[in-house]
Amino acid sequence: MTINVPELLSPAGNLDKLKVAISYGANAVYLGGLKFGLRSAADNFTDEELLEGVTFAHDRDAVVYVVLNGFLHDKDLDELVPFIKYLEEIAIDAVIVSDLGVIETIKAHTNLEIHLSTQASCLNSYSAKLWKKMGVTRIVLGREVSIDEAAKIKKDADIEIEMFVHGSMCMAFSGNCVISNFTQGRDSNRGGCAHSCRFEYSLKFEDMDFEKKNHYFMSSTDLNGLRVLEKFIEAGIDSIKVEGRMKSHLYAATMSKVYSEALRYYKENGHFLSDKIVEWESELKKVKHRTYAPANLVEKAATDTIFDERVHDKDSNYAIVGRVLDRANEDEIIIEVRNAFNIGDEVELIPFKGATATIKINQMRLMNNTAIERTNPSTLVKIPFSGFCEANNIVRLKVLS
Ligand code: SF4
Repeated sequence: MTINVPELLSPAGNLDKLKVAISYGANAVYLGGLKFGLRSAADNFTDEELLEGVTFAHDRDAVVYVVLNGFLHDKDLDELVPFIKYLEEIAIDAVIVSDLGVIETIKAHTNLEIHLSTQASCLNSYSAKLWKKMGVTRIVLGREVSIDEAAKIKKDADIEIEMFVHGSMCMAFSGNCVISNFTQGRDSNRGGCAHSCRFEYSLKFEDMDFEKKNHYFMSSTDLNGLRVLEKFIEAGIDSIKVEGRMKSHLYAATMSKVYSEALRYYKENGHFLSDKIVEWESELKKVKHRTYAPANLVEKAATDTIFDERVHDKDSNYAIVGRVLDRANEDEIIIEVRNAFNIGDEVELIPFKGATATIKINQMRLMNNTAIERTNPSTLVKIPFSGFCEANNIVRLKVLS
């Protein structure tokens, strides 16, 4: 019997991260062009990078979705037309949209497949049916929906459903938030969120003689749906999505590897009755994160999902130090350095599949073979390693917390 599991959809903040996410097991990636999305601070893709990204993905049976989920004004819609025609020409697999005007523009000028962004806050089957009538083929549900509710929406509306499984949460209703507009003059709904909800605030009610100083009232814990993955599968959810286009290569690699391994394990065994879940959880914790919680996936999120930004998880003390470019020879590999490391460090190479390899750095050389004691970011170095590795493998280092 074939067991169907959801597509794993990972974030791709830039072309390198796209390659990392797909190489580590993501079936799909989502990304933004230079305009029209909600992450103006991400690197985002030029038209040429989009083409290279789609080719890389399609060559590996993965798909690419482009976000067009900003709330656009009339003049933006005129500029949108050549861009969506280009997306169709390079065979992008779908666009993720939240605005009705954008949907109409896409339908008028292209045959692109349209996914509804979580930003549109679809929370029920009546709304889902209406979006379907308008030409939407997949709905990224609002993050306030539980897996059980999602299963019912899928059944009643008979439409593809995508849900967030991991990443930062937004305390506002599926991202419809204007705090940054008021506090920083930056428009959250046009890519300018300044994470104002993560700041420390003081609250004072003069007439109630109440004051609370330097408190985190609105910062949400991070979502982690690993322990409820079976519920996603049983509910027939079509795609599980990892948040985080702005996050690191290490994040893209770890999330894609852990969740793809877990989904593959279930597909092969039909259950999660394994010590592997502890291993996967431990890997997820190594990436910088706020306290993890399943948010609304099973029960309604409540006050226990407010995170105090002063608290750091002691496990999340790994940093990316580099990315494998190639082998230099049988005994050395070439690393593109992201963060400095030193002779004597023990770094870990994360393969696309299987166990991490530890490498004791007892010598390092620049490309011109000069021996060095410490690396500099954005340089290439050769380090000793004769084991199996591939281009785009990530190298991490445990750092002192
Ligand atoms: S400020 Fe916070 S709540 Fe508002 S959009 Fe940004 S992350 Fe979401």
